[in-house]
Amino acid sequence: MTDTHCPYCALQCAMTLTPAPAGVSVDGRDFPTNGGGLCRKGWTAGELLDRTDRITQPLFRGPDGELRPVTWQQAYERWTTALIATRAAHGPDANGVFGGASLTNEKAYQLGKFVRLALGSSRVDYNGRFCMSSAATAANRSLGLDRGLPFPVTDLADAHTVLLLGSNVAETMPPFVRHLAGARAAGGLIVVDPRRSATAELTADGAGMHLQPRPGTDQALLLGLAHIVLADGLADTAYLAERTTGLAALRRTLNAWWPERVEQVTGVPATQLRRAAHRLAEGPRGTYLLTGRGVEQHTDGTDTVTAAINLALLLGLPGGRRSGWGTLTGQGNGQGAREHGLKADQLPGYRSIADPADRAAVAAVWGVDPDSIPGPGLPAVQLLRELGRPGGVRCLWINGANPVVSAPDAGAVAAALDRLDFLVVSDFFVSETARHADLVLPATQWAEEEGTMTNLEGRVLRRRRAIDPPAGVVSELTILTELATRLAAPGHWSDDPAEVFDELARASAGGRADYSGLSHHRLDEPRPYHWPCPAGSGADTPRPFTERFAHPDGRARLLPTRPPAGPGALLTLTTGRLLEHYQSGTQTRRVASLTAARPYATVQVHPDTAARFGLADGEPARLTSAAGASQVRVELSAAIRPDTVFWSFHFADEQAVNRLVTAQTDPVSGMPEFKATPVLLSAVGSLTSKENACASTP
Ligand code: SF4
Repeated sequence: MTDTHCPYCALQCAMTLTPAPAGVSVDGRDFPTNGGGLCRKGWTAGELLDRTDRITQPLFRGPDGELRPVTWQQAYERWTTALIATRAAHGPDANGVFGGASLTNEKAYQLGKFVRLALGSSRVDYNGRFCMSSAATAANRSLGLDRGLPFPVTDLADAHTVLLLGSNVAETMPPFVRHLAGARAAGGLIVVDPRRSATAELTADGAGMHLQPRPGTDQALLLGLAHIVLADGLADTAYLAERTTGLAALRRTLNAWWPERVEQVTGVPATQLRRAAHRLAEGPRGTYLLTGRGVEQHTDGTDTVTAAINLALLLGLPGGRRSGWGTLTGQGNGQGAREHGLKADQLPGYRSIADPADRAAVAAVWGVDPDSIPGPGLPAVQLLRELGRPGGVRCLWINGANPVVSAPDAGAVAAALDRLDFLVVSDFFVSETARHADLVLPATQWAEEEGTMTNLEGRVLRRRRAIDPPAGVVSELTILTELATRLAAPGHWSDDPAEVFDELARASAGGRADYSGLSHHRLDEPRPYHWPCPAGSGADTPRPFTERFAHPDGRARLLPTRPPAGPGALLTLTTGRLLEHYQSGTQTRRVASLTAARPYATVQVHPDTAARFGLADGEPARLTSAAGASQVRVELSAAIRPDTVFWSFHFADEQAVNRLVTAQTDPVSGMPEFKATPVLLSAVGSLTSKENACASTP
């Protein structure tokens, strides 16, 4: 039996794997994040190990357009030839990598190093840009440090009140719900969501409140709550004086957001806003604010999270022993992947690629001249938009991501991939993105590899190998070592995960995400290790802000935000996740029981809206946005606002909602706007000028 963690989300539920005739059998294991529980995605993860459609050898696209098996030697030769030719013809930045937040820390570290040293390119980013970058940016500028939850998740058990903004944990990470039990018992779970989601339902029967704003108005809601806190004398003035700066400037901007104005913008009654603000300020037990993708995946996502942190600071919550603000990381290693080199502007240890001291520290570990490390690259949306264009990447490796489904304006992404000179995709299956590849490479699955992951609370966890991968499947660490050698890259290249981790730890020493006191051996101890864990201290840091924040003066910043836009379109498409599926669905759409439960996409429409547009439950509807038009089956639901429709993003081809999502991004973080796309709605075949007119008038 092998103790490891789930391959999917950032809760990283603990599980025990036992080799079985068809892969492994999975059992939940007692652990602080999951208490032994798993969701249906975790329970069924083992079914993907022995699927007959799994890639087990490299596939190369021939002149006839068909993917056919080749040997690893042939794959390396053709790939290396393409990399060298691309660099010679177009320069080093014409080679690039798009990574994934499901990769282990070791793979993420080595992949980022490979781009900078072996390719000499700045062009690397990852799909975590789609899900964590606004919260990360806001946390860095307000608190000086980005660690998803700056406290162990078990601290929530003591909570009197939890304000959960834009996160449907009851579907996305069901074992997390146990941590909300204290707040629910105290009547203090406050959920902000345009849908009465499964999580919002947890507020029923006196367990709390559900605030149901228009999509895209979350920042206004938070400004309104902060206004009430100041106007009604609820702020923690001693805390503000001792631990923060910037109150006067923030106060001036908040004056404009009185509750009745916020009600007009958000649709949330002023009485509810006042009740929520006063509840947040009540004692005697802890209060927590938690944000998720629902409020972060917006063009004002960084400012919305900043507004949430401002509210938490006004209430004196961050850094308290039993209170705080945090963001619920989504992907399994969303935290670790950005800490160790997959982000365009970062080096290992959460170091800045633009900072001379950070560059010198990493260069010393890599054994290279600091000047040989390229500067900042492009954030994901821009990187994808410029593929195959002058100055853009022409030879791309996509590792552990499926942007043809998961990226905004997904149709344009597919077209961009086809402009490339050479596309390599590593995955378990021929994903929708792999269909565009010249070379498809098999990858090891979680039960077949050693490594580490960093969960939503900054806790570094061991992933352990329970079974051997199929013959022909090798780790990306092996691929990276082979390619680096063929390209005569400087530095040391190892395919041993423990050895790579040791180098990662050295490269992170003194950085914000300092792992230098950790090793695989140490992480095998039965105790938690939340970073930072500096070498020599023997300690970890479960609550990094109890004494001081991470800015040089130790104080948190209260920061005014850009005023949010007013109410958006009259009908807004918002996207999100379902209980049965994970991310782009490459894995979960191949699990029989999950697909049986959720075989296809639907668009949730309020019955009043459906009646207005002549739509019936189960019948197709057409949605049209600035990015395109698609048809999808209607699911009537009174749980959604009449001015909002919801479509999950796990499905592909005609059912891929991201074909309708435009590629607008937050100007600070580069995070796309996934949650508020103006759309027109019609019954299929009847998008008449009259209906268009209906869609654009109240
Ligand atoms: S909640 Fe997340 S980590 Fe836990 S079993 Fe489900 S998918 Fe896996």
